Amino acid sequence: MGWLGLDDTDHLGGGCTTLAFHRLLEALPPGVQLIGDPCLVRLYPMAKGRTRGNAALSAELHVDMAQEAWFAWLDQYWSTTIEPLAGQWTPSTHAKRPQVPSDPGIVWFETKPNVSFYRKAVREEVSWKDAPKPDWSRGGEGNIGATAAVAWSNHATTWEGIAWRQESDDVRRLDEATLLELDRDDRLFACRDPRKGRGLLAPRGASPVLCGIRGTERQAVAEAMQTLLHAAGTERAIGQRVFSTNQGSGDHLSPPLQAIVEKTEIIQGGHVALHTDQGTWLAFAPSGTVRELASQLSHGDVVQGLGLQSDKPGREGLHLEALSHLSGPLRNLRRPTCPSCHKRMKSAGKEQGLRCPGCSHTDEDRWIGDAVVPTGWVQPPLDRRRHLAPDLSKGLPDAL
Ligand SMILES: [Zn+2]
Repeated sequence: MGWLGLDDTDHLGGGCTTLAFHRLLEALPPGVQLIGDPCLVRLYPMAKGRTRGNAALSAELHVDMAQEAWFAWLDQYWSTTIEPLAGQWTPSTHAKRPQVPSDPGIVWFETKPNVSFYRKAVREEVSWKDAPKPDWSRGGEGNIGATAAVAWSNHATTWEGIAWRQESDDVRRLDEATLLELDRDDRLFACRDPRKGRGLLAPRGASPVLCGIRGTERQAVAEAMQTLLHAAGTERAIGQRVFSTNQGSGDHLSPPLQAIVEKTEIIQGGHVALHTDQGTWLAFAPSGTVRELASQLSHGDVVQGLGLQSDKPGREGLHLEALSHLSGPLRNLRRPTCPSCHKRMKSAGKEQGLRCPGCSHTDEDRWIGDAVVPTGWVQPPLDRRRHLAPDLSKGLPDAL
């Protein structure tokens, strides 16, 4: 028994580590069997060398063959199938982030490494020297993610069914009527962007992924995938598989921070910078409702934020993934109305109290206003959230 991990075989122009791993699992020699579902593990979203969503793959295998023969098989598979995927590189047309060439890595552990390495790799930049040492490995940078994927506890928070297609520039064909039907299943999520009526489950750009269906119940995901792939309007898939994943776990986040707003500022790009007693928090324009809430805050407001800290020049601060307005000064401050004639009262002068302009009724000097109604957690729309982002409408995950 042991654990196999794979990472970093893809680049923006094509390839996909999920497909490379699926093919590897399909090619396993007699005597080697997959135990349970393979794992799709998302790692630190701000990692420097990532291609797209920084996902790595792992699987538990039962190996009924001599170690020497198994390692010889792995060596052979590595050099013929995985190693040739190294060094591929496509510049990004939409992101400023420099793309690094793919540098695949594959690892084998006879004993599952401690989950602490996964916890580190999902929250911060890690290096190979920090990683537990595998019993067998080949490749480069990809070994780090591959090892972190093996170290994941495999306590799935969600499942993702993925189907692949022949690499092609043609528009993906998925059966529209079935998509509408799947939308109504509340065990599935991120199928469709409710604001635009656009499928979320098919990736944009060059990728051999035909579709991905995520959900909180394995059986619902597996059945939905079968239904969609067999529907008349869906193109032929070259394979499909259900992965156990850490998507939606919130594992990349630290517990919520509480802060008092000092000042809000609209910065270049329409983003909102919240200057707080806990440093700067950034609500980016694509985060929609989060940015909207941030722009309405003012001095003295008490807020909670969830996000990742960034030291990127010009973008330093907490990059908000969720924001909650807890309390703050009254809004729409105004004078009370006169109890007799209902006109708005006015100040009668310094330390003179209030006076009604209609009937000369007097009152003590005071303001009234609208109390802040706590918002609860506000998150970006589904298609703007990180893969790891938890659904906070069900409360904070246990880990937070
Ligand atoms: Zn009056």
